[in-house]
Amino acid sequence: MDKPVPHRQGLAASARYARWAATLFVVAMLAMLLQDLYYTRQESREHARLRAGELGELLAQRTAGRLAESERLLQGLHDSVALQPMQQDGQPTRAESVRLSRYLAARLQGLPFIEHLEILNLDCRPIAASSHSADMPPRTDVCRWLHRAATGQAPFTAVSQGPQGPELVQAIRVHTASGETIGLALSHIRRVALQNDLDRNLPGAHGETLLLDQSQTILAAWPRRAIELRRLEGVMRPAQVFERHDNTLLFVGPSLIDGRERFYSVQPVGNYPLVLVTGIDANDLARDLPLRAVSYFMGWLLICVLTWLALRAHLANLRQTEQLLESARRIREGEERARLALDTAPVALLLVSNQNGRILYANTPARTMLHLPGRDGARDSQVMDLPFVLPPVDAWVRTGEMVRDREVEIVREDQSTLWVMVSLQPALHHEQPATLVGLFDLSQRKALENELEEKNRLLEEMAITDPLTRLYNRRHADQVLRDEIVRCERYGQRLTVAVFDIDHFKRFNDRYGHQAGDNVLLLVGNEIRDAIRQSDTGARIGGEEFLIIFPCTRLRDAYTVMERIRQRLAETVLPFTERRVTFSGGLTDWHPGDTPSSMLMRADKLLYEAKVSGRDRLLLSQEEA
Ligand code: GH3
Ligand code: MG
Ligand code: MG
Repeated sequence: MDKPVPHRQGLAASARYARWAATLFVVAMLAMLLQDLYYTRQESREHARLRAGELGELLAQRTAGRLAESERLLQGLHDSVALQPMQQDGQPTRAESVRLSRYLAARLQGLPFIEHLEILNLDCRPIAASSHSADMPPRTDVCRWLHRAATGQAPFTAVSQGPQGPELVQAIRVHTASGETIGLALSHIRRVALQNDLDRNLPGAHGETLLLDQSQTILAAWPRRAIELRRLEGVMRPAQVFERHDNTLLFVGPSLIDGRERFYSVQPVGNYPLVLVTGIDANDLARDLPLRAVSYFMGWLLICVLTWLALRAHLANLRQTEQLLESARRIREGEERARLALDTAPVALLLVSNQNGRILYANTPARTMLHLPGRDGARDSQVMDLPFVLPPVDAWVRTGEMVRDREVEIVREDQSTLWVMVSLQPALHHEQPATLVGLFDLSQRKALENELEEKNRLLEEMAITDPLTRLYNRRHADQVLRDEIVRCERYGQRLTVAVFDIDHFKRFNDRYGHQAGDNVLLLVGNEIRDAIRQSDTGARIGGEEFLIIFPCTRLRDAYTVMERIRQRLAETVLPFTERRVTFSGGLTDWHPGDTPSSMLMRADKLLYEAKVSGRDRLLLSQEEA
């Protein structure tokens, strides 16, 4: 079976699907890349959140550690021996003060984060100091602290606004053994040390770290320029809060310093009145995100270009397939038309392989003409592959002789014969040499020809035959005689003619009817035919008058034949009469110079003489020596 030709609409649908598939692929790739970018960004935000928490906790712990150490120092200071002179009367001597100051300076060794230690009396005046600090806290603050210290035993932490900015101090009450307050020990925390702690743990290029007291005074900060603000104005407004417990807050929101969105952790610094705010900018953790986005976009563009190229190639292939199918369809149409033309052609056509002499194709007239077997369901255009044996056409195919309009009688497989006109034409079959054999059935023409020939023969025969006796007529006999005389003249052959007439023939007619007369004539004709040779010519030249031409025959031999005829007739008794049929005649042979008429005249004369002399006899002329 032939392959079904895919429909053109199928190809158009295929092209449409390919376009859709390419578009979907490109869009899906873009979606995947965007999703990846989105997740990367989300991941970086998550990291920023965690990092804010971790860093905030670390810095808060560290700062708390520093302050705790400072507290311990203050507590140890109160219990030290150096403070005893003061503790006795609250008014140490100058020498004791100097000693105490030295002691304080000595205690600061190895504690770089404490800038200054001092002890104040109840008048808020310094009694001893680890160094001469230029930046003393305002006296009002110191008096407030002294008053506050008198109400409790534990050290406390406070911030004062000094000329150089906020000062973080820790204070503890100094009292006598009996518990009477006699002064205040102050520890000034070095702000630079706190700042250094922040500097060592940076929150990223765009991060923010702030150490604040309860009034939002900035004690240390990163970036450092934030310190210049001194105090945070307003309240931080979280866009989204992630955690809130134990004075710890984790949220995302805009910075109060630069308005930039950060992930903030607000951690309390131990039990101290300080908080540590750590802000992480998520963009710092996704610094390669723009680069990745650009590379993703470039990659996606490359995918777009490659997909477009593949699609273009595919569509070109489809177009080519479509053209091929169109060509195949046209070829099929052409083949169909050719097959139709071949099958409806009045000429039988065979395509014969030159290689193995087999019939590759036979149209309907050829199959009918040659009685070729049909093939079930086979199409005419299919190869039949039948052995080609059709003498003598197969020999011409084998030898490559391209005959044209040759009339031959072929013998078919069932041994029946057929007259055909054959023409051979070189051809190709699947690029292999083949021969196209055209056969035109001549059987009808041949039959007509034969019929015509028969009719002509009959006409010819009628033209020279006497219709009653079937002997030759006068005209033919004259011609034969002329021809024989020519032969005698040329070759010197002998020639004898006999002219004879039935005796009293009229009486047969008169007595027994005209039919009886005809029967007598028939009888005589039959006897003549039986007696003479093939080469002799017997003819009825008149009503009951006959002529026999004996070529190459001597007079006496002809006479013998004539006698035999006379004898036979004499012996024949007609059924309707007792009468015998007799005849009288004259025989003469050819003499040089004789013409047909001279010979016939001579024979007629002898005939006449035979009649006159009593009938039923044959007279001979004098024989030529
Ligand atoms: P003779 O012995 O002298 O020849 O006498 P005859 O009667 O044979 O000769 P005649 O010439 O007087 O008669 C010939 C007759 O033959 C006359 C004619 O009617 C008859 N005849 C001629 N042709 C035919 C023919 O074809 N059929 C028949 N039945 N008769 C014929
Ligand atoms: Mg006569
Ligand atoms: Mg007669």
